[in-house]
Amino acid sequence: MIPQCNPKANYKKYREEIDKAISTVLSSGSYVLGEQVTSFEDEFSSFLGISETIGVANGTDAIELALRACKIGNSDLVATVSHTAVATVSAIRRVGAKPIFVDIEEDFYTMSPKDLAAVINEYDIKAIIVVHIYGQMADMQGILDLAKQKDIPVIEDCAQAHGATQESKMAGTWGDIGCFSFYPTKNLGAIGDAGAVVTNNMEIANRLREIRQYGWKERYISIREGINSRLDEIQAAVLRVKLKYLSMDNNRRKEIAAIYNKNLENLNHIIVPKLRTGNKHVYHQYVILSEHRDTIRRELEEDGIFCGIHYPKPVHLQSIYHKSSYNILDLNVTEQFSGQILSLPMYPELNLEEAKEVTARIKNIKF
Ligand SMILES: *Cc1c(COP(=O)(O)O)cnc(C)c1O
Repeated sequence: MIPQCNPKANYKKYREEIDKAISTVLSSGSYVLGEQVTSFEDEFSSFLGISETIGVANGTDAIELALRACKIGNSDLVATVSHTAVATVSAIRRVGAKPIFVDIEEDFYTMSPKDLAAVINEYDIKAIIVVHIYGQMADMQGILDLAKQKDIPVIEDCAQAHGATQESKMAGTWGDIGCFSFYPTKNLGAIGDAGAVVTNNMEIANRLREIRQYGWKERYISIREGINSRLDEIQAAVLRVKLKYLSMDNNRRKEIAAIYNKNLENLNHIIVPKLRTGNKHVYHQYVILSEHRDTIRRELEEDGIFCGIHYPKPVHLQSIYHKSSYNILDLNVTEQFSGQILSLPMYPELNLEEAKEVTARIKNIKF
């Protein structure tokens, strides 16, 4: 059996260190926002090359806090993509703002700067949320150039892009704020829910620290409305262990992707992922496009090889978000791709023989 993702294998690989880290927390008597969280925040900041990391409860909260820190609220318009996890949009709605969906680039699945320009020129957009989907960054230069013209803050949803770079600069450090999820299946995964917000702006960082804990400036004194979105010590301790191996694990994902590329790129009914010039892809997912997607998925499943679809229904077509006010543009690429995308098994512990087996099986499918 080959699963699509395998957080248990990742735990087992680092088990000794993780168990020890957890045990240290258990005996410390400090369980929420303590030393482990502060150390993790410092280490994650160094990893990214950014000045501030604020640990929070999950990735959705990270985006909500980022929006609040940019003072986005009631009925404000936020431009984002529909080709994303529903979480991106649910965070926008939680602050009372309204998403305006922009289509994606055909080659890279990320926000199309051309379509963003059309939206920015026509509407009073208060923030842009860019999603670095599958582990490859969007065209940040193109998007930032547009945002700067109108002074619109840019928030990066990096939930699938821990360690991805463009021109050697990490995802999360390009815009005003970067948001991370450490859900167990992400490239950097906790053993429960966890997230972080990162920024180089001290004022925003302070605001984020206040909002994550009841708006407290100091204990029991609230100077703004906040929520409880604290990171706990056990998750932080586990993340500190796994962060040390993130680059190594990302390199393993790249090796697996190289095998998939080599064995699948010449099949005429399959399109393999394209690499944007100057980008480092961290392959949170390895996603192929095929008109025969459902057949491929079914045949692989019969052999015990499991794939995923990220995501089967674009956000704007989900009944709860299917509001005409959100859908001003045609989202042709988003809609077309949702019926053709297939995420092959991808996790650092997948061995190279297994990766070859996946491709051999695909090659044998008769259409
Ligand atoms: C996982 C994910 C999120 C949400 O993170 P949670 O920790 O599950 O709240 C947001 N955006 C994207 C693109 C994701 O993949």
